[in-house]
Amino acid sequence: MRRISIFGATGSIGQSTIDLIRRAAPGAYRVVALTGGRNIDRLADDARALGAEIAVTAHDALYEPLRARLEGSGTEVAAGAGAIVAAADRPADWFMSAIVGIAGLAPGLRALQHGTTLALANKESLVTAGPLLMATGRQSGATILPVDSEHSAIFQALRGEDAGTVERVILTASGGAFRDLPLDDLPGVSVAAASSHPNWDMGQRITIDSASMFNKSMELIETKEYFGIPPDRIEVLVHPQSLIHALVGFCDGGLIAHVGPPDMRHAIGYALHWPKRRHCPVERLDLAEIGRLDFRAPDPQRYPALDLARAAMAEGGLSGAIFNAAKESALDHFIAGRIRFTDMAVTVRETLNALLLDKGLVHADMTLDNIRAADGSARRKMDEIVRHSGR
Ligand code: NDP
Repeated sequence: MRRISIFGATGSIGQSTIDLIRRAAPGAYRVVALTGGRNIDRLADDARALGAEIAVTAHDALYEPLRARLEGSGTEVAAGAGAIVAAADRPADWFMSAIVGIAGLAPGLRALQHGTTLALANKESLVTAGPLLMATGRQSGATILPVDSEHSAIFQALRGEDAGTVERVILTASGGAFRDLPLDDLPGVSVAAASSHPNWDMGQRITIDSASMFNKSMELIETKEYFGIPPDRIEVLVHPQSLIHALVGFCDGGLIAHVGPPDMRHAIGYALHWPKRRHCPVERLDLAEIGRLDFRAPDPQRYPALDLARAAMAEGGLSGAIFNAAKESALDHFIAGRIRFTDMAVTVRETLNALLLDKGLVHADMTLDNIRAADGSARRKMDEIVRHSGR
């Protein structure tokens, strides 16, 4: 019986993980910790159904209502960011890191310190703290398995290959909700329109990040940090069908592509069963019916976020934390209606231009405290830019 903990259990990735756990043979898994944020109904229902040892909400104020919902279930209850990190101290064989945002970093790091297996969906961990995360994993002997579909695809394509023979990696991108919209119409798009993905069913934030390609920018940084591939060997290719998730090009000119339906349960299941492959309840593709796969280069005018990520990678240090915080903050301002869709890239660029000059901030030691400081500086700078711009 494998002991598993799911951080971010109430979200899109968390729920897909729970779906796989529910389908497993009885007794295959013992659920240690489930964590969530505001959705305590879902958290309590799943904790009861799965017999979790502990359920943790990120919000102190939700402790009492969560406790009431789990009364008599035998599941312990806790609340607050510290309690989520403490839940990572509970012994488990497999952790799913699926909290959204930088809040996912500390629990993931704590789990890694225990030398466990961390299935990593939380992009922000690698973007803000890639070297720290990977070093922590190496020191404790932990295994980090990528869950982002592109990185799972690269991981699978590299299996059994000599990393030294990799010439390039190609990340595919659907192009998001506005890939065919006339450029002049982009500034005026609504939050609702940006929250609808043509292929994937995901949380709202990552869906909007797909439309702006801030999501793909994060993946560029993730690829560099996880696989150690230099940025100039990582390409982005628009592939509207989202069936090829990534390609790896080798020194002999061959490309290995990972092809599968746009369903995160594949990448989650791969990480859950690794190093074995097991049956996964995803659609089987009928390529004859699909008929064609399309590709095009990403238009830098439509997707300026890609160059912003490259600027952050070129600077190194804590610039990933600054980039991530600026991007998260810009997204908050867009969702709140304070800036337009296209202003997200403009304001992130202004924030990077201002903060990447502060070499003391950017090249401080990579510790959790310094990452949080860089994160805070970027959010304050972004707020200032938005306030003064009258956007
Ligand atoms: P969701 O928004 O659907 O879920 C986020 C989860 O994090 C929820 O459980 C939420 O709780 C919890 N949460 C939110 N804020 C906090 C906080 N401050 N502290 C602790 N927990 C919190 O996100 P997704 O599942 O879509 O994405 C999760 C991560 O995986 C992200 O980093 C995303 O980029 C990455 N990812 C997602 C993919 C996808 O297909 N969805 C694909 C690849 C990567 P609650 O809802 O209860 O408030």
